[in-house]
Amino acid sequence: MIDLSDATGTQLFELIGRLYPICRSITGEGVRQTLRILQELIPLEIREVPTGTRVFDWEVPKEWNIHDAFVKDSRGRKIINFANSNLQVVNYSVPFRGKLKLEELKSHLFTLPDHPDWIPYRTSYYNESWGFCLSHRQLLSLADDEYEICIDSTLEVGSLSYGELVIPGATNREILLTTHICHPSLCNDNLSGIALVTWLAKQLSLRPNRYTYRILLLPGTIGSIAWLALNEAKVPLIQHGFVVAGVGDRGSFTYKKSRRGNAEIDAVFDYLLKSTSGNSDIVEFSPYGYDERQFCSPGFNIPVGCVMRTPHGQYPEYHTSADNLEFLSMDSLADSIEKCASVLDILENNRIYLNRNPKCEPRLGKRGLYRTIGGNTDEKKNELAMLWVLNLSDGNHNLLDIAQRSGLLFSEIQLAAAALLQHDLLKAVGD
Ligand SMILES: [Zn+2]
Repeated sequence: MIDLSDATGTQLFELIGRLYPICRSITGEGVRQTLRILQELIPLEIREVPTGTRVFDWEVPKEWNIHDAFVKDSRGRKIINFANSNLQVVNYSVPFRGKLKLEELKSHLFTLPDHPDWIPYRTSYYNESWGFCLSHRQLLSLADDEYEICIDSTLEVGSLSYGELVIPGATNREILLTTHICHPSLCNDNLSGIALVTWLAKQLSLRPNRYTYRILLLPGTIGSIAWLALNEAKVPLIQHGFVVAGVGDRGSFTYKKSRRGNAEIDAVFDYLLKSTSGNSDIVEFSPYGYDERQFCSPGFNIPVGCVMRTPHGQYPEYHTSADNLEFLSMDSLADSIEKCASVLDILENNRIYLNRNPKCEPRLGKRGLYRTIGGNTDEKKNELAMLWVLNLSDGNHNLLDIAQRSGLLFSEIQLAAAALLQHDLLKAVGD
């Protein structure tokens, strides 16, 4: 397993701890502050899309910022206080000041009766309103009083911010890695994804890659719609990708297939999850979830899947104050990172080769390839792997196809291909 006790692991812990208190939303300073912190680890570009920009059927909304918010009782005590938790204010609440009786106030209060100690996470992006979230236990304890309300927020012309990093590879064909960055103090649903994508981006930028990697840190829905609308010409370069959702809860790893269902990214996750121990799930595509909804809309149909652990909405802590730092399991996060990194390694090496000697088998013995792959004792397996690679390298099978058809491991097939390539028995197709 990837060891998160090293320097990078420590950075990830610190990163999650620093990002947790920030009040993020789909626009505003919280997103910029988050992206600036990520810039300490990876050279992200922060891009701004002005309010009012038409992006397909949508429009970039006004920018929301909040400075303070509270509810005071008649004795002047702040009984609900944004300063204690940013979840206490409905995200995107419009400015409001006034005095309300409890009965009037109640229509602006949101709780979770089934989990009376938790505070819900609520948003009102496209419907101008205001509200507060609190524990159900506190709601029941509120006296029939007159309350002073203050929501010191702004909703003004500004911009939508997102982060983008392109890590050039040997080819300009791309792998897309993306996650949403719009949730306030929630850990699994958002910070785990941000941590995973940042970790992968950092590792990818330290090594030579075949593919070019495009890293997008986007506000959910409107961010991916805006990116797609403004970067349509770049879309054909994207060969594979995945959206990263909640990847740090204690549930098993889940991969949601792309809309295509049989794309290379789907095959690689399928292979990886079936060939590694531990529970994992593969679920079919559905047009509900995270930004795969946009990347897999029929006009784009990009081979983009989604990685998560427990699917959203299927754990009670989802979108509540209980999705906190304690809810996150560093072992789960490390396992998610390892699986995603393994998938990228397979994609990097999953090439199609052409057998340069396709008429009957080449003589491996005279090339020293029989019983001689560097130090590996499982020689029979290596020979078999070479025979499979030679036989199926007809330009129509990639190495993963060969691994699956032969029942051998991808790593064994990859090793065999490398040996054959070294002896000029294969040539690579494409870049
Ligand atoms: Zn969410």
